[in-house]
Amino acid sequence: MSEPMTLACPHCHRRNRLPGERLDQAPRCGACKEPLFSGAPVDLASAQFNAHANADLPLIVDFWASWCGPCRQFAPVFAQAAATVEPRARLAKVDTEAAQDLAARFAIRSIPTLLIMHRGKEVARLNGALPPAEFQRWVDGNLPRV
Ligand SMILES: [Zn+2]
Repeated sequence: MSEPMTLACPHCHRRNRLPGERLDQAPRCGACKEPLFSGAPVDLASAQFNAHANADLPLIVDFWASWCGPCRQFAPVFAQAAATVEPRARLAKVDTEAAQDLAARFAIRSIPTLLIMHRGKEVARLNGALPPAEFQRWVDGNLPRV
């Protein structure tokens, strides 16, 4: 048995605690009973961000905007990465138009910007989109082990 770890539900955003080895066993949220991993990025509003960013489970955030062409091009790369990266991390999208406080907090000056958050701290940052294989390498090289 490994130590319990915390992660937030992608549906109700409540904090869950579960042993690390259960990550691979299609765990469900203790509060809303929905799957804790859905194989897709979760759209986060400002009020929902900290629950995910402060968790033991690393969070990979795509800061984007609907008017940004490179963001739209990168969206399918990011979405497909969820299938291979979960459950080692949660993937999330933050709309910088809707969540301007988060864009300011992280000093997002260009989009897309990718951040890896772990236990409330930024551990990696990438400015600009990457092709799928290079994005995967960046994730693998920077993702904290949990
Ligand atoms: Zn839930």
